Amino acid sequence: MQNQINGMQKTMPRREEEEKRLIQREYRKLLKSIKSKMDTTDRHNIRMAYEIAVEAHSKQRRKSGEPYILHPIEVARICAEEIGLGPTAIVAALLHDVVEDTNVSLKDIKDRFGDRIATIVDGLTKLDGMYNVASPQAENFKKVLSTLLVDVRVVLIKMADRLHNMRTLGSMPRHKQLKIAAETSFIYAPLAHRLGLYNFKTEFQDLCMKITEPEKYQEVARKLQETKQERTRYINEFLKPINDALRDIGYPYRTTGRPKSIYSIWNKIKTKKVPFEEIYDLFAVRIILDLPKQKEKQVCWQVYSIVTDVHTPIPERLKDWITTPKSNGYESLHTTVIGPEGRYVEVQIRSERMDEIAEKGFAAHWKYKGIGGQDVFDTWFDNVRDILENQDSDAIEFVNDFKTNLFNEEVYVYTPKGDLKILPKGATALDFAFHIHTDVGYHCTAIKVNKKLVPLGYKLQNGDQVFITTSKNQKPTESWLKMVVTGKARSKIRSAMKEERRKQGEIGKEALQRKFRNMKVDYEENVDMLAKFFGFNSRADLNFEIAMGNINLADLRDFFNVEGNKLVEKVSETVAEPESDKNTPTRAGRKKYTGKPRLLINGEPADDMDYVLANCCGPVLGDDVFAYLTVSSGLKIHRTTCPNATHLMANYGYRIMKAEWVTSGDSSFVADLIITGIDSGPGVIERLTHNISTDLGLNIRSFSIAGNEGYFEGRISLLVLNKDQLNVTIRELQNLEGISSVTRV
Ligand code: MN
Repeated sequence: MQNQINGMQKTMPRREEEEKRLIQREYRKLLKSIKSKMDTTDRHNIRMAYEIAVEAHSKQRRKSGEPYILHPIEVARICAEEIGLGPTAIVAALLHDVVEDTNVSLKDIKDRFGDRIATIVDGLTKLDGMYNVASPQAENFKKVLSTLLVDVRVVLIKMADRLHNMRTLGSMPRHKQLKIAAETSFIYAPLAHRLGLYNFKTEFQDLCMKITEPEKYQEVARKLQETKQERTRYINEFLKPINDALRDIGYPYRTTGRPKSIYSIWNKIKTKKVPFEEIYDLFAVRIILDLPKQKEKQVCWQVYSIVTDVHTPIPERLKDWITTPKSNGYESLHTTVIGPEGRYVEVQIRSERMDEIAEKGFAAHWKYKGIGGQDVFDTWFDNVRDILENQDSDAIEFVNDFKTNLFNEEVYVYTPKGDLKILPKGATALDFAFHIHTDVGYHCTAIKVNKKLVPLGYKLQNGDQVFITTSKNQKPTESWLKMVVTGKARSKIRSAMKEERRKQGEIGKEALQRKFRNMKVDYEENVDMLAKFFGFNSRADLNFEIAMGNINLADLRDFFNVEGNKLVEKVSETVAEPESDKNTPTRAGRKKYTGKPRLLINGEPADDMDYVLANCCGPVLGDDVFAYLTVSSGLKIHRTTCPNATHLMANYGYRIMKAEWVTSGDSSFVADLIITGIDSGPGVIERLTHNISTDLGLNIRSFSIAGNEGYFEGRISLLVLNKDQLNVTIRELQNLEGISSVTRV
């Protein structure tokens, strides 16, 4: 006993000793990473900030168990090394969590370090504080942007803070990881892009994917690793014939062949539907030259000429961002050429200065600001200020408008008279109509671009000349929403639709009132319950769907008994729903299985909770899921890969709950598959249904198929027990002759 106590007394200080040394080591690493010039005051301030932070955080530990102080030191190092920020930012980064978490006050900081650093720390504290209140992340986003205008370093340090937190997210519980990842991909990745912090954007996206789709992430990472040698060999072969000519130019140069990010490769696999092995542009060859500013453009084009003398260029892939830099400051000359073995290779040609801007974005841009040319960020900040000041819509709309209108780059187009109009990149011909005038948008019937008729959803290209035809009888329809991207057009169409829906809804309301009179139930007493039953948020939505014929009032007696003047829901026993019901999208998620499978929500059995499986992503047992508390229809279970997940988690993080499957009974889940293939006669459908119902023994709930010119696309709704069974089914179907793809909806 005595020995044991002695032993403990000895090990405790030893551990403290070790941690102390570790902290000092990390601090020295930080000092070494600072590249900007510093005077004695700077050095003194950094030392003082370090000592205050060490003392203030001395009792705290991170989730991983390590001393908390390692976090601010690392954030400061990222600011210095990866963004290239100077002493002011480093001091602020070291202190970024003290006001929030410890008893050091803002006044203390102001007294010791002055106004500027206090302002930055204050901005950072306010941003962090947002996590502790039940406020939508959209509000948070608005705050992030306002601090951008106070001192852009607040946002840059916040980026470093977020990056370090993302890098060390491993020790957090899964539902928190998902929430943080969603917010990162929703706010921080696009903001990093807009500020020209390409490295940050890329790493954010990769780290988010690592959390939301861990298997896919590991798969791509492993394949990249496996093909590394082969890539190096190829890049050397590509460069060999041009190296001599490059040396003859007489400026030092270096080349890199870094692969593209895991996220962007995966995106390609997903959107182009090709396997990893068939993606040829896995990497871009970069040629970076060390030359004086005034020689940049001339020499870069000289290099272009050297490269394309040997490798055949693809003219439409030439991008000259040297003559016209991107609006986030990016400068570079890009081309794609046909390399050895007929493979497409992207070549990026730039100077060291351009490379630093590309890597470090705004901060580097700042450094070179004096050299000449107008500052692209000044214009952007003016726009941010405008939007922040003129915004009276709610926070979520604000974020969406902001994302489309200020994160994107611009497209330059002309009116028939030759006036220049600037719209966000990706804007359509219809956006242009609304940009000219709301009435022009409302009544737009046809659009000509460069004298040719185009669809309303045509994506504008730089230099397009756009001519709009209008008619008094034209009015917006629901489908227009899919053809616009700008906030203005979207909100104008939405309000026109609302008015239209209200008019239509009157018809539905009358029909429902007639039906209720017929069934002898009271309208006011039952209408809200009915809306909720069908999964609508309001009477107006219910009325509209009735008017559109999407809800068959004749079926009401199938779902309800009449007791007194009230409708009482029947308890459903059967799995299958009437076939006629499948076009009623809002009913699909409700009570379609018998006996709920075991699900835990926030760690508690969910059997008694009012939850439904979301229609949008149709989760089945075994899927990675989370619960979302809706405004009026209880809990909805979504897959973490659901297209709506990012939006929900980022904007309504406080409504997200952890959900996990425990075990299953033998309840079935509805899973929807999209199947495409070559239509080789009536045999395909027969083979499909035979395979599913006979070979795999599954029930088909509904099946629809459409095709033309030998190609078909089918949607099939199956009842499965769990994810494994579903995956086996997908694999089996993929192997059938004539089937080219099988994907979950
Ligand atoms: Mn922090």
